Amino acid sequence: MDVKIGLECHAQLLTKSKLFCSCSTDYHDSKPNTHVCATCLGLPGALPVVNERAIRYGMKVALALGCEVQEEIIFYRKNYYYPDLPRGFQITQYDFPIAFNGLVRIESGGGDGGKEREIRITRVHMEEDPGRLVYIGTIDTAKYSLVDYNRSGMPLVEIVTEPDLKSPKEARIFLGKLRSTLEYLGVFDGDLEGAMRVDANISLEGGDRAEVKNISSYKGVERALSFEITRQKNLLRRGLKIQQETRHYDETRGITLSMRTKEFEHDYRYFPEPDLVRIRISDRIEEIKREIPELPDEKKKRFTSQYSITTEHANSLTYDINIADFYEEVASKIDMKLSATWIADVLKGELNYRSISMREASKRISTADFVAILRYLKDGVITERGATEIMREMLDRGGVKPEEIIKSKGLASIGSEEIEGAIDKVIKENEGAVEDYKVGKKEALNFLVGQVMKHTRGRAEPKEVRRLLVGKIESEF
Ligand SMILES: [Zn+2]
Repeated sequence: MDVKIGLECHAQLLTKSKLFCSCSTDYHDSKPNTHVCATCLGLPGALPVVNERAIRYGMKVALALGCEVQEEIIFYRKNYYYPDLPRGFQITQYDFPIAFNGLVRIESGGGDGGKEREIRITRVHMEEDPGRLVYIGTIDTAKYSLVDYNRSGMPLVEIVTEPDLKSPKEARIFLGKLRSTLEYLGVFDGDLEGAMRVDANISLEGGDRAEVKNISSYKGVERALSFEITRQKNLLRRGLKIQQETRHYDETRGITLSMRTKEFEHDYRYFPEPDLVRIRISDRIEEIKREIPELPDEKKKRFTSQYSITTEHANSLTYDINIADFYEEVASKIDMKLSATWIADVLKGELNYRSISMREASKRISTADFVAILRYLKDGVITERGATEIMREMLDRGGVKPEEIIKSKGLASIGSEEIEGAIDKVIKENEGAVEDYKVGKKEALNFLVGQVMKHTRGRAEPKEVRRLLVGKIESEF
């Protein structure tokens, strides 16, 4: 059954002040309702003033997504009543948004083997964020809810796609690519809570579309969509009709709930915001184009050719701009393929395991530290296992240097003499296994290598142990 998914992605822009007032946007660690003024509280008589930087950021996003930026923009009032919207309308854009018709390329299989797909961007526009409702309990059981207006008036750029996505997984990959691009532009921080919120339209062949509102995590998007597809399929199977409606995604329970039947555009009574003038933006396009840095796709291409690394590594290293920068710094000082392997395959895994970002990690493990670890490894001072152990220790403790860990944990690898000593001991203690190997039971060798590794407390390279062990046993034949 064909699935069609379209997304409306709302991303908070990293300006210093809100979209229409001078309140600070740095509210994430503050008490509720401490970053507010007459304008973002919607008090009578308060007038909005447009934040120029927010518009420039919005244009940057539109250009990076390959959109056609328009001549001028006009803000509109979108009228609806909700407690998080004290004015009774949201200032947004309608007929005259920043841009139309963009394109984002994604690799739908993820990684190397995936085939490239093009997802069309319908439009990019600016709007203000409403306040935040805090439910005590869950949305359908809460006896009351609280409102925090710190978020009210935050600048959002809304990116609307055509219904080109074919699966929840593609939606997640698209969002990852979008996040990566916005972070490259320096206008967005995906680590901030609620920085990206998504509404998704989903329809199955032959059904009406349902909209799932306000999904606020990247993982949530895939889960919410999967749930919704199953729900719709079950309805169709029972011969029921899928209602055109708006549903809410309950993150903790992983389900979608009906909120209200869908509004239609005319319900919002859009009209131009009379307190703001139309803004001509076309004369800034060239200037802003020049500010756009190298984007993920270009960087990926450059990495593959400049550092002769695999596409898979280039993909993995360029996804997060902070990892890309870290890699380039390390690769300028030491073997670029070795750096790629250790950053893409080992370091990234350790970061995922600890759920910390590269930006946080680089406070505990600098590029100089990383180069030092790889140099010790190359020079045979430590084993691969030792190198991993040092990285783990640095990430967990912070404020320690590789040399200290090598000393305190006794990670310095041992010479072949010491390895041979251990091998002799293991051969003597495990005659049965040695005999097994001699009569062709290959798995006995793995056991013996393991025993030697145990004796040397992991300070020998397994490959070297295996080579010496085989030599020794065979010389005894
Ligand atoms: Zn304000």
